Amino acid sequence: MKLFILSFFSLVLLSSCMKGETVDRIIHNASIHTMVDGENVQQAMAISEGKIVEIGPDRQILNKYHADEIIDAGGRDIYPGFTDAHGHLFSYAQQKLSVNLFGLSSMKELLTACEEYRKKTKRNFIIGRGWDQSLWGTSEMPTNELLNELFPDVPVCLYRVDGHALIANDFLLKKAGITVNSKVEGGKIHTSNGRLTGLLVDNAMSLVEYFSPKFSDKDIISTIIAIQQELFAYGITGVHEAGIEFQHISFLKNIIDNNGFKLNVYAMLVPSEENIAFAKKNGIYAYKNLSIRSFKVMADGALGSRGALLKKPYEDDHNHHGLLVSDMKKMRRIALLALDLDYQMNTHCIGDSANAMVLELYRKVYQVKKDHRFRIEHAQIVDPKDFVKFSQYGVMPSVQPTHAVSDQRWVENRIGKNRLKGAYAYATLIKQYGMLALGTDFPVELTNPFLTIHAAVQRMNAKNEPIDGFLKGEALTLNETLKGMTIWAAFAAFQEKERGTLETGKWADFAIFEKPVQSKPQFEENFSWMTFISGEKVYAAE
Ligand SMILES: [Zn+2]
Repeated sequence: MKLFILSFFSLVLLSSCMKGETVDRIIHNASIHTMVDGENVQQAMAISEGKIVEIGPDRQILNKYHADEIIDAGGRDIYPGFTDAHGHLFSYAQQKLSVNLFGLSSMKELLTACEEYRKKTKRNFIIGRGWDQSLWGTSEMPTNELLNELFPDVPVCLYRVDGHALIANDFLLKKAGITVNSKVEGGKIHTSNGRLTGLLVDNAMSLVEYFSPKFSDKDIISTIIAIQQELFAYGITGVHEAGIEFQHISFLKNIIDNNGFKLNVYAMLVPSEENIAFAKKNGIYAYKNLSIRSFKVMADGALGSRGALLKKPYEDDHNHHGLLVSDMKKMRRIALLALDLDYQMNTHCIGDSANAMVLELYRKVYQVKKDHRFRIEHAQIVDPKDFVKFSQYGVMPSVQPTHAVSDQRWVENRIGKNRLKGAYAYATLIKQYGMLALGTDFPVELTNPFLTIHAAVQRMNAKNEPIDGFLKGEALTLNETLKGMTIWAAFAAFQEKERGTLETGKWADFAIFEKPVQSKPQFEENFSWMTFISGEKVYAAE
């Protein structure tokens, strides 16, 4: 009997060695959080041709497979590669090439930054981004007088932190032909004492954008590749690019083919005539790591520049409700087209009125067919009685937790205490839809997903403010937050069958993190140790 048992085991051992399948790569000695059904943790996985062949205990995987590359993860946490479900690669590239105005605390600092940029880059134009007058100890919007004095003969265009307002100097305003009598639908051209102040909000920005100088393709390519590295270092393997122009499609294809751009991009098309023609011609579109099957529509502006469309006036401006940026007829036309093409419509809605209007629009068109997965981007201020419509109509919310902890300093002044009941209400939104896609809206916020975790779970910013957490009742659990960056983000892009969890048959997109992925009351940095896309190592910490 003893002999029999022994020979039985040696037979099993022998046959497993003989069957030993060769795979491209084995990762073992890890805590692999598969994100399948809650807390499912495995030790090892075998990867071939970009996909996960098998995942299981160390011994099972190491006994069964051979590979040239066997990576010992040293017990580290592995998660499916994070997706930022709402970011702007091209705006971020522009921002990196521009004057950095983030975090400046006065108009004086802004002027100095512009002067230094001019000296350093020798460009004959100045584009900047990131000013926030709320950091200057004033809620008054800036004017361009000092800019005109310093820069009388070069165009200057400086975007607010939220990208929903800009300040232009007189030189650029003149070049664009804007006068005190100019008008624009869904935008505001600010004037004071009968002269332009240079402040242009929402649709009014497009009046000068056409005349603003552009950075070279070469500069943009190298900057986007640098951004890709930054994302990989955080374990991010995918971005839902929230609004691309027609020329960006070929630009992305070009850098995929020629510059090693490997990030998974789910791009939302700005509904321009060219993009609409593209969608009609191509339908659901994929080119290597680029996929397109959605439109991005703007319903209103942002709270910071009082462009968000509210049901009742602003608490700190009783004559103003905000702006409807796209008219309802246009939005309805896009919605019907999206349904027709099996596309998704992702609409930017910040104010409670914008959210209510778009939920109703979706309900009206939704009767046509099922599983459209139309999204509302931001869903920032929702009238409490409208929350139920997310579940009733089946509308997917897509939010950015870092917005909550960035806006907490001033949002109560702007909208009043009462409306905070439906503000940044992520837990309530999950209860309604069952899922929530999470992003950062970079470059409005930083790309760091660990700030998203901190904001979602602790409801605090990087400085651990506010100490009790902002509207703490709307906090998410760590698991919900991680789902929002993995499997729910994949669902939000119709990709849940291919990505978002680590299981047999799915693309091997994952990150091995340097430190355990967790959430504590004190913010702690974390980075990827190695990042993989389709089984290929795209990043390794030095
Ligand atoms: Zn955005």
